Amino acid sequence: MIIMKSGATKEQIATVIKEIENYGLRADVSQGDFRTIIGLIGDERKIPFDHFAILPGVKEARMVETPYKLISHEYAKLAGESERRIIKVGDIEIGGDELVFIAGPCAVESKQQLFKIAEGVKKAGAHMLRGGIFKPRSSVHSFQGLGAAGEDEATEALEWFREAGDRFELPVVTEIRGESQVDLVARYVDIIQIGARNMYDQDLLVKVARTGKPILYKRHFGAGIEEFLSFAEYMVAENNKDIILCERGILPLGKGKSYTRYTLDLAAVPVLQKETYLPVIVDPSHAAGRRDLIFSLSCASVAVGACGLIIEVHHNPIEALVDSQQQITPDELKKIITACQDIHKAIGNK
Ligand code: PEP
Ligand code: MN
Repeated sequence: MIIMKSGATKEQIATVIKEIENYGLRADVSQGDFRTIIGLIGDERKIPFDHFAILPGVKEARMVETPYKLISHEYAKLAGESERRIIKVGDIEIGGDELVFIAGPCAVESKQQLFKIAEGVKKAGAHMLRGGIFKPRSSVHSFQGLGAAGEDEATEALEWFREAGDRFELPVVTEIRGESQVDLVARYVDIIQIGARNMYDQDLLVKVARTGKPILYKRHFGAGIEEFLSFAEYMVAENNKDIILCERGILPLGKGKSYTRYTLDLAAVPVLQKETYLPVIVDPSHAAGRRDLIFSLSCASVAVGACGLIIEVHHNPIEALVDSQQQITPDELKKIITACQDIHKAIGNK
């Protein structure tokens, strides 16, 4: 990390960047109110910090050991940025004072289904609409989402999705499963979701980050927190800091029936917040895998400091084509939103 003096000139900053590039690294430049901080992207061991420390305009040059530094509090603080990143999507602030609820079906099944659910979640108080068009599924024999039928079908579903979002004033979030889907999906949605199974796909992370859209980034069910953050850094290194981290459950331990689909790692929420300025939300639906636990897990998530929730909602959950056991009704969502807002008020905004 190179910390420039407060009066460093543009030319001095440009010289430092050029020097960094000469050593085969890239520079992440954060222009704070008082000074400029230059993060190094690449192998810092190649950098002679003593040499950088004496370049004109440089206040300090030092190695940062952690695998994620661009998303650390230290970096944000030095750059004069706020301790918590607030991601603005239309009028909605993720990571702001108010909780954000993202709700909708696991999969978009038809225009009629989507509009019915969008209307329901809006009435229940949700702020954004979710819905899968490209579904990651364990079995090739199960419904893969409408997008699987081809580009025309994917485009049509994305058009409905956009229309539903606009009609009910709900920004929209959908998952992309591969690089080939990025350009198409980015044309229609407000936030791009990278699902748990793709957490490790660096090429995909880079491609999605380059769209400049906010990203809802899910933790893989086998990933440690340091790994999760290290991979989040790939997107921030592309100069996209609008990353929403999402805890969605990790693999359950032990033999025998586990009773939940995954184990919700509640401690991950405050830990992630201590490690990074990125906002953290929770997905209780995929963690639990059963609707009777969504209320409790939602309340618990907010109690540990989550700034929002993403919840699967269907007007008729039993009929849902995907994840029918875990989807709740709009009425149940409404109860969750009310309870979570009370809890959020009780614990105070952080
Ligand atoms: C989803 O949100 O639709 C989904 C498949 O979630 P995850 O990637 O967490 O399994
Ligand atoms: Mn699902």
